[in-house]
Amino acid sequence: MNRIILLIFLLLPLIATAQKARKLKKKEIRLIEAGNPLDTMRVLLVTNKSDSTLLRKSCKDVDLDKNGGEVIYFSKRLIVTMTHPKNMGVGIAAPQVGLLRNIICVQRFDKPNTPNEIYINPTIISCSDSTQLGPEGCLSIPNKKGEVKRAAQITLEYIDLDGKKHIEEIEGFTAVIFQHEIDHLRGILFTDHLQEHGLKPKD
Ligand SMILES: [Zn+2]
Repeated sequence: MNRIILLIFLLLPLIATAQKARKLKKKEIRLIEAGNPLDTMRVLLVTNKSDSTLLRKSCKDVDLDKNGGEVIYFSKRLIVTMTHPKNMGVGIAAPQVGLLRNIICVQRFDKPNTPNEIYINPTIISCSDSTQLGPEGCLSIPNKKGEVKRAAQITLEYIDLDGKKHIEEIEGFTAVIFQHEIDHLRGILFTDHLQEHGLKPKD
């Protein structure tokens, strides 16, 4: 018994290190820098087998102290991809372009001029009990729409591109976008929620 306790004690620093944000791998940097900051990235689709596998994986945090430059470069490409006329999205998550990291872009319909903003390592720390039902679609799921039940209000914790931590309350349609994008970071797609409620996505 004592040996088990000793083993756990010895492993604790290793467990703690494993949860910290790891530096971007060379392969990830190659993906980010494969085009200039004004180039779109390829959006992964559920209709492609290998894309579909990647879209189901969980993402890791990024560390702006170690990879600030690459994250800024990536953020520009992510916004260009989301806003490109062929996509016209209101939100996008890094795994949708093949980067398994906790980064999302959301169009802030609750702010003047509806800016497209980047959120680093975002987490929803609390949700309201009240819900809202609304139509959703996804850049990675072509030709599908469906009604999804989401929390009406969320409390979001995130880091901005300057490395500053924020805690913010968000409600309405913008809160829906955040919930949809943060789901992507855990490999969850809006169609999963449709099945949860016994509804099938519309073709
Ligand atoms: Zn989506």
